[in-house]
Amino acid sequence: SVEDQKFTMFNEIDVLKTSPSTLKVRVLRMWSIKDNKNVNEDFLIEMVLMDENENRIQATVYKQNIYRFKRFLKESSTLTIVNLSVGLNGSNYRVIDCPNKLVLGPNTHVNSCQEFDGRLFGFKMISFESLINKDIFLKSTVDIIGHVVHVFKNNASNVKDKNKRTMEICDLRGNCVYLILWDHYVSELSKYVIEHFDEGHAIVILQFGRVKYYTGSDGKEKVYVSNSFGSNVSRFFINDYLFEIEEYKNSLVDLLNANDVSIRKPIPVKMLSSVDDEFLRATDFFNIGDICTIISPKSIIILGTIKAICPDTEWYYIGCNTCSRKLMENNGEGGKEYECKTVRCNVLGVIPTPRFKIKIRVQDSTGVVSLTLFDRDAKMLTKKTAKELIDSQNEVCLQVKYFFNCNSHLYKRW
Ligand SMILES: [Zn+2]
Repeated sequence: SVEDQKFTMFNEIDVLKTSPSTLKVRVLRMWSIKDNKNVNEDFLIEMVLMDENENRIQATVYKQNIYRFKRFLKESSTLTIVNLSVGLNGSNYRVIDCPNKLVLGPNTHVNSCQEFDGRLFGFKMISFESLINKDIFLKSTVDIIGHVVHVFKNNASNVKDKNKRTMEICDLRGNCVYLILWDHYVSELSKYVIEHFDEGHAIVILQFGRVKYYTGSDGKEKVYVSNSFGSNVSRFFINDYLFEIEEYKNSLVDLLNANDVSIRKPIPVKMLSSVDDEFLRATDFFNIGDICTIISPKSIIILGTIKAICPDTEWYYIGCNTCSRKLMENNGEGGKEYECKTVRCNVLGVIPTPRFKIKIRVQDSTGVVSLTLFDRDAKMLTKKTAKELIDSQNEVCLQVKYFFNCNSHLYKRW
């Protein structure tokens, strides 16, 4: 039976000996490479597998065999695999630092197995000291854990930067490296920030990250870890309920409580937002609960969640084409006429233009406030003009629903 079987561990695999008989593995990560000739089909499936001693190895299934194993191959599934071959991992840069990879071929048999010793994600955290001292294999990936201490403002003029977040993360001994996220990892981060912006710290893990070294303008070499191999292989975690993150959090809290000077303080989650740093750190930033302390008119910035659109009020008004002010409606000889009474316009018969005026309730951790979204801000959120929405009444409902569901952040000046 499976229980009595001796399983080969990955570190026992030796190309000079016969192929490993039976392996017991967890699929840690899985991605496919599409067929050039037929983009709907996989050319091959790549995996990172882990054995019960938490050794990791890459594995490949070529196109002609994918159909045989597909139903078993899922991330985090545990399997027994019989009759694999050991292929050469010839890539210059490997996800796992091992010259071999397993190949699930025509003679291979795969089965699910229930019992498995070994953690879910199989992290192999590398210390920041090792990264800084280049005490790592440079042609492979690393797993890192740390807390975010700074987020850099993107260069607005660089289009490539739009899908990029650069942050500085530190370990519990005060060593720091730079973490760069690209593409959907940035969207995941933004989504997290939106849903958890009251959290006091961000502990992050990047698994299978790529390390690079660059010399900064101060002449010092700096460590950069980024998601690697496009957008499929690396795995990003932020404040997830994982043993590694809980353990890190407890140590971090202990050090902060002890006022340990060697540690750099974490920044709150809301600072990781895509809005640039200066905006949120500006002195005119206010908690909603503190707005009542303002005694004279001023511009302030708040950060909150739209909780509701006030249902009793009209969501638009008829405004002037030129100055946006509300128009007076007269019944003239030829029907309705609109008049703009501002000093700037002061004319009869202006072209009426519907403009947004959406009453909303916005909440942060300190309170709730009523705000009005005018044309520019509302257009940004709905991606439509008020006229376009009126012209397609169905979409008004849809868009209003969108407001309720999205919990989108609002940065409102008044
Ligand atoms: Zn006007």
